[in-house]
Amino acid sequence: MEWNHSTDVVVIGAGAAGLAAAVSARDHGASVVLVEENFDIGGHAMLSGGRVQLGGGNALQKKFDIEDSPDRVYADWTAHKRGDSRYNDRDLVRTFADECVPTFQFLLDNGVTFIEKPIVTPDASTVPRVFVTHEWHIPSEVIAPRRNRNGSGLVRRLAESARSKGVQILLKHEMTQVVRDPPRGRVLGIVVQADGKDVAIEARKGVVIATGGHTGNVNFRRIFDPRLTEEYQQAGLPYSFQGADGELAAMDVGASLWAAGTQTSEVGPAITKTRHVGTRWGYLSLYYETDSPIFHLAKATGLTVTDWQEAILVNQFGQRFWNELDSSYDFLNVALGNHGDKTKLNGGGPIWAIFDANAVARQKWKPKPPHVDPDGYFYSADTIFELAGRIANPYQKQPISGAVLQDTVNRYNSFVTSGIDADFNKPTPLHKIEKPPFYAAWSTPILHDSLTGLRTDTNAQVIDTRGEIIPGLYCAGESQGGFAQHGLGRCLVFGRLAGRHAAQRNS
Ligand SMILES: Cc1cc2nc3c(=O)[nH]c(=O)nc-3n(C[C@H](O)[C@H](O)[C@H](O)COP(=O)(O)OP(=O)(O)OC[C@H]3O[C@@H](n4cnc5c(N)ncnc54)[C@H](O)[C@@H]3O)c2cc1C
Repeated sequence: MEWNHSTDVVVIGAGAAGLAAAVSARDHGASVVLVEENFDIGGHAMLSGGRVQLGGGNALQKKFDIEDSPDRVYADWTAHKRGDSRYNDRDLVRTFADECVPTFQFLLDNGVTFIEKPIVTPDASTVPRVFVTHEWHIPSEVIAPRRNRNGSGLVRRLAESARSKGVQILLKHEMTQVVRDPPRGRVLGIVVQADGKDVAIEARKGVVIATGGHTGNVNFRRIFDPRLTEEYQQAGLPYSFQGADGELAAMDVGASLWAAGTQTSEVGPAITKTRHVGTRWGYLSLYYETDSPIFHLAKATGLTVTDWQEAILVNQFGQRFWNELDSSYDFLNVALGNHGDKTKLNGGGPIWAIFDANAVARQKWKPKPPHVDPDGYFYSADTIFELAGRIANPYQKQPISGAVLQDTVNRYNSFVTSGIDADFNKPTPLHKIEKPPFYAAWSTPILHDSLTGLRTDTNAQVIDTRGEIIPGLYCAGESQGGFAQHGLGRCLVFGRLAGRHAAQRNS
């Protein structure tokens, strides 16, 4: 192989795990190249709420007299009673528990600042462990500004520190291959695409995969859940794509997946009900204001639904399928289930919110661009019949019958009169859908967490399908398997450990 560049450690992906890995590798004496496919750093972490889960008795927990310890972190994240703790690899959780406090300190040492108020999150934790980073102070560099995207402060500070310590960050460099000495030797480097050309980068000590997971890759995500066909969009887009590139490149050189069942343990936001309807990207907490630097890609803010009494949800045949007030996996499983489509047996197809002018007035929605995306994700008409005929979308395989949608609305309106939803038990349906214009808004569930990925040991070294370490290959973040914790905490811990171990390897 002819190398275009040579360095000690190559990190792939400048998100939470990759930035931590790059800084840590540099701290331990390695030269570091960090490649990122996007035009800017940050990945999902840039869009995140910046709620960092690193307990165990960290400096801020002490300040608030919150009693915590590594043992307690370990006990919480291995408890049998919840799906996000039950199936975890105990070795990984033990390391995570022991490394939370040093990782919190690592963030402080690298300029990350936190709001001094503990947050309680709905996960396996039994004490408040989450502190929120300050949002980055330059709105045009926040990507989704003015919506508490506090994770921008985490990644901008880490990137600032990385650059000042000498990490070379190469943007718009997409890793396409991990190069391994055949047949089962050490990993030598990577190939990236930049400006349409292949560039080979030698990694004398190690390569760290931190590409953020797989939920945007339809083929890959269906390994775990065959229902997840193409209509389901990925949270974080259109900014940051989780395309399973790291997993695929590592599997090409023999890597194994780990604890694959955690992806479908039905706890937390692996799959979510959409909250902002009429846009393709309606993930719960993510809202692109019109001054977002990527608004031209997002195309619409969406209409935020604060009360699902305001709309009914219908499937791709125009039929209701569940109580709209429910957001649990009961709702999601029915939404993802087949509703009688004989041509497409997997996946539930598009879900549409149907509502009327009265709902718009009550919710103070503005059902026009830039709030909605009429290019396939939002429709209006003066009659329900006409509305059905207008719905056209790449994922809507057949037109909705006007007669069926009219029947659905009539039946629902009769439930409002009687006060009883005889079909799906929505508690006291409140509002008839009766005043034109009528609206149909994209409301298909959206995917978020990658909760499984590559098998690693506790130093984040990738393990192959025979249970042996692949020398020189590391993985951290959502591309790492074995620990089904939502979000930043595990990504930062194992990113930091991967960078340190890679830097300390003999080349
Ligand atoms: C809206 C939203 C809110 C969230 N809020 C929180 C929160 O408050 N608290 C919390 O703990 N978690 C939160 N999360 C989750 C958290 O952001 C992620 O778990 C975390 O960022 C994952 O870190 P990562 O390093 O694995 O991936 P990322 O941070 O996504 O970084 C991966 C990077 O790899 C790059 N990449 C991918 N493929 C390639 C390739 N082939 N070549 C080069 N680069 C590549 C991507 O472009 C990306 O920049 C939130 C996520 C979202 C989307």
